[in-house]
Amino acid sequence: MYLKSIELSGFKSFAKKSELNFSSKVSAIVGPNGSGKSNIAEAFRFVLGEQSIKSLRGKKGEDLIFNGAGELPRGNRASVKVVFDNSSKFLPLDFETVTIERVVHRDSVNEYLINGSQVRLRDVIELLASAHIGSSGHHIISQGEADRVLNASIKERKSMIEEALGLKMYQYKKQESERKLVKTRENIEQVGSLRREIMPHIRFLKKQVEKVQKTIEMKEELQKEALEYCCREDEYINRTTNRLNIEKSPLLEKEKSLENELNEAKAVLEGAKNKDIKSEKLISLEKSLHDTREEKDKLFRDFGRLDGEISSLARMVKKQEEVAHSLDHKTVTLSSVEEVSSKIEDQIKQVKNSGNIEELVKSLDVISTFLTDFIDQNKDKIDMSLIADAQKDIENLKESKKQIEDSLEEIKNRENKLSKEYSELKEAIDKEKDTNRDAEKAVFRIMAESQEVRSKLHSLNLEEETLKLLKEDFKRELTELGMLLGTHVLQFQSLSFDFNEARTLQEERRRKIEKIKIRLEDAGGLGGSDVVKEFTEATERDAFLEKEITDLEKSASSLTELIKDLDTRLSVEFKTGLDKINTQFKEYFAVMFGGGEAKLSVTVPVKKKKKDTDLSLDEDDIEVPEMIEEEEGIEIEVNLPKKKVKGLMMLSGGERALTSIALLFAISQVNPPPFIILDETDAALDEANSKKYADMIENLSKYSQLIVITHNRETMSRAGILYGVTMGMGGGSKLLSVAFEEAVSVAK
Ligand code: ATP
Repeated sequence: MYLKSIELSGFKSFAKKSELNFSSKVSAIVGPNGSGKSNIAEAFRFVLGEQSIKSLRGKKGEDLIFNGAGELPRGNRASVKVVFDNSSKFLPLDFETVTIERVVHRDSVNEYLINGSQVRLRDVIELLASAHIGSSGHHIISQGEADRVLNASIKERKSMIEEALGLKMYQYKKQESERKLVKTRENIEQVGSLRREIMPHIRFLKKQVEKVQKTIEMKEELQKEALEYCCREDEYINRTTNRLNIEKSPLLEKEKSLENELNEAKAVLEGAKNKDIKSEKLISLEKSLHDTREEKDKLFRDFGRLDGEISSLARMVKKQEEVAHSLDHKTVTLSSVEEVSSKIEDQIKQVKNSGNIEELVKSLDVISTFLTDFIDQNKDKIDMSLIADAQKDIENLKESKKQIEDSLEEIKNRENKLSKEYSELKEAIDKEKDTNRDAEKAVFRIMAESQEVRSKLHSLNLEEETLKLLKEDFKRELTELGMLLGTHVLQFQSLSFDFNEARTLQEERRRKIEKIKIRLEDAGGLGGSDVVKEFTEATERDAFLEKEITDLEKSASSLTELIKDLDTRLSVEFKTGLDKINTQFKEYFAVMFGGGEAKLSVTVPVKKKKKDTDLSLDEDDIEVPEMIEEEEGIEIEVNLPKKKVKGLMMLSGGERALTSIALLFAISQVNPPPFIILDETDAALDEANSKKYADMIENLSKYSQLIVITHNRETMSRAGILYGVTMGMGGGSKLLSVAFEEAVSVAK
């Protein structure tokens, strides 16, 4: 036996503390009408956590507190305490005795206590549910509610039976799993849409990162090429400078000594007494030729310089053209941008006040056309201004070069004329074979030699000129590369290569470097590390979300699995439970009615969609109804002995009471609750049936402890303990333990 006692204090009509001990399998509570017996049944509901005030016959919490009667003043609180023997641990708590207490105060505040410790309502409900006891329980049958199971709809009936079979736990679990599943699916959807939202951004970042990666690769390639190029170029310049110096210096010395010799020879000729016309002519011719050749050299140098400048400018033009043709380096004028911007603004202004979505969409199309037109117009436009300037410079330089060429032509003619005169004079002098002409011959020799020296020096000078330009180019290239790669990167001095290669290879290298530089400029200056960092973060976040979806999907499928399992379990256990109940029901029914048959069956109702539910007597009015399947429920079929009555509707009041008692007892026996409270369930029975009822009570008490509130003598006779409830003189219910005979009189 699980139920030990109940104590009421200030609860409803029980002003004073009253305790009922249930040490017997069947306890009966007897007393006259209005003495407070049903208040005891309600005290059970109350302490077990009932939340519906209505089912406690009140309107508000206050109605449960003793309201004063006679001499007794009203109380401020009502409390009910129920004590269970838990030595079998039917309640999952490690105590031999479990006390559950509920207190309600005038301000409707409720307190719940388990073994004296304050707890939440939820804790009480969970504790009791585990032992198959609930507040609204099937095991507390209130007065007049005995045939509730017959009056209920088939769906309610099913729910009652499920509760009695202890299947509610599974249903709560199933409902909770379903709720979780819905929530999980929502989360999956949310995370999915979050992923979809960030996807375009990730794609954009990925492209940027790829560009950055390409830029890095290009830079690496450029650096490799540039290092070799610079190292070789530097080496070439140094070598050439040295060679030129070495080759030049003996020539310069020779030139100087020849000049001295010439001066000496000229001095001889000048000083000679027999100075003749030929000598004078020779001296003047030598001077003219010298001056002419000086002038020619100067012109050649200028020519070389101009040539260098022209080719350097031409290179620049070529580079500018390549840049100008690349799509990423289009320049557009501010005025053209302002023009398209004002067109867009006008369009927006126009549509802004219309408030018409269609207009707005049209307008967006117009704006889009503005922009594509603008791009198309500028796509093939090339900024020629820089190129044009350089080309103009080239033209000017070419003009100067032409002038120099003309002057050179003229000077060459002059030189040729002078050379011719000089040769003729030399021939004439040679013919004379005069020893006095030694000085003159020396002049001829010196001039021939110095002409040779001069021409060698001339070509060396040209080389030097070219080298100078090369050096300038190299300096510029170094600056540019330094800006692109960082000066620290260009540490080529320590490198070494096989320097004996054709100069054309170095040219190829230069062209390759130029190409990479242009590609790099096209790629634009991307804020590399920031983009990479953002991309990494974004992909990490995406991966996290992906994992979250996988986890959520996993938990969704395990929830689905759980729901399926619970469904199977519910349906299997319900079916076996129902079969067992049917066996008992059939037996109890036969006992009660002395024969006949009764059965519970599962039914799936069909409902007419059309409103017309009553059958019309006029057949023409009958419409063929559309059927909708509903949730299944429980139908009760009865077959009384010796009567043709089959439907529940046709039973008499007493027959209804008997049927419902039979069913109630059948259900209770299949899944016995620790205790059952029956509040005047036997009220409608005649003497013969009262006896059968009392027999069944006795039978049922083998499975559950019974507390019966009754006026029925037969029922009382089966109780081990009898409590009498009376309305005291001072007001309020009074409790007394009574003997059977006393009970019979008290009940009256
Ligand atoms: P019956 O045999 O007719 O069913 P009963 O013994 O079951 O009667 P109850 O319905 O339990 O009687 O008790 C009703 C009595 O309790 C009424 O007299 C009612 O005035 C009294 N009562 C109910 N609530 C309070 C309250 N808050 N304060 C004082 N008395 C109350």
